[in-house]
Amino acid sequence: DYRRALEEAVRFLREHDRFLILSHVNPDGDAIGSTLAVAAMLEQLGKSYVLVNESGAPDKFSFLPRFERICNLSQDLAGDTFSAVIAVDCADASRMGDVRHLFAPDAALLNIDHHPTNDAFGAVNVIRTDAAATAEILYDLNEAAGLPITEDFALCIYTGLLTDTGGFRYSNTSPYNMEIAARLLRYGVNPGDVAERCLEVITLSHVKLLRQALQTLRMSHGNLVASVFVSRQDLESVGADREDAGGLVNYCRNIEGVEVGVSFVEAEPGTVKVSLRARSRVDVSEIAKQLGGGGHAKAAGCTLRGTLAEAQERVWNALGQALGVNADE
Ligand code: 5GP
Ligand code: MN
Ligand code: MN
Repeated sequence: DYRRALEEAVRFLREHDRFLILSHVNPDGDAIGSTLAVAAMLEQLGKSYVLVNESGAPDKFSFLPRFERICNLSQDLAGDTFSAVIAVDCADASRMGDVRHLFAPDAALLNIDHHPTNDAFGAVNVIRTDAAATAEILYDLNEAAGLPITEDFALCIYTGLLTDTGGFRYSNTSPYNMEIAARLLRYGVNPGDVAERCLEVITLSHVKLLRQALQTLRMSHGNLVASVFVSRQDLESVGADREDAGGLVNYCRNIEGVEVGVSFVEAEPGTVKVSLRARSRVDVSEIAKQLGGGGHAKAAGCTLRGTLAEAQERVWNALGQALGVNADE
């Protein structure tokens, strides 16, 4: 059970001395906040660690303590290998990206996550799927380890809670995570500042991309599905990267009467990143899983090989089945 898993994780932290901490590719606020929250805990325990993310960490999170210590894989980790690995906010091993060569052959992995699609890929697994964020689980872990809440830790946890609940608005918002958040505010977190940095500020490239993406809006499945499409050319013409495409999908889902919003982004040539957001009739984690991805009931994603049109066909067919309405109805 969960309590037992937390205790096992505490033992894991105590019995190793040096850790590799990582999260999922194209990290969000929970991924980076959780990575740095573990670092803050290990500081308290006097352990050494290396932080890595295959994609590096987005600059918008540079206000978080020890942000500059997050390495990306192209940086030389000097052929270093690790026998203790902690993966946070990763639903399965593939979400970690290409980090395997950093693992020693006998490496033990601690998997801490909140995705319902998590396949328990660790030697130790701490999974609570009703946690709004992995950061919420790390709050429990810090407590289970008998560690104090430091200012650094508080800021990291708050950031994970805030971003994964969309500013305490999504249906995963709970009395427990708002209680934790309230408590963290007593440890020096400035909520207005964190919200401004994580939720309010958008890049000019994002706005230019939004202008183009809205031109591609397509309603299907009897107006139950709304989709937008972003090609390589769209990204290049406004100087945007795939990160700038984040959030486009919300415009689709938010349309009155829409059950599922979808964004199709040609992240690499021949590769389409699909983001799915649901209202209530469809569990989009099931759709994403069917297509090789995963996520949550109301927010999920996958990456498909092929063109935008091919991705559209596969996703729209799957949605047609789930909704019982054909795409062209
Ligand atoms: P987003 O659409 O913002 O990239 O992701 C929404 C949710 O789906 C997040 O919780 C994210 O972790 C999950 N997700 C997105 N893409 C993938 C994927 O390719 N595989 C898995 N397992 N989960 C994904
Ligand atoms: Mn995440
Ligand atoms: Mn998360």
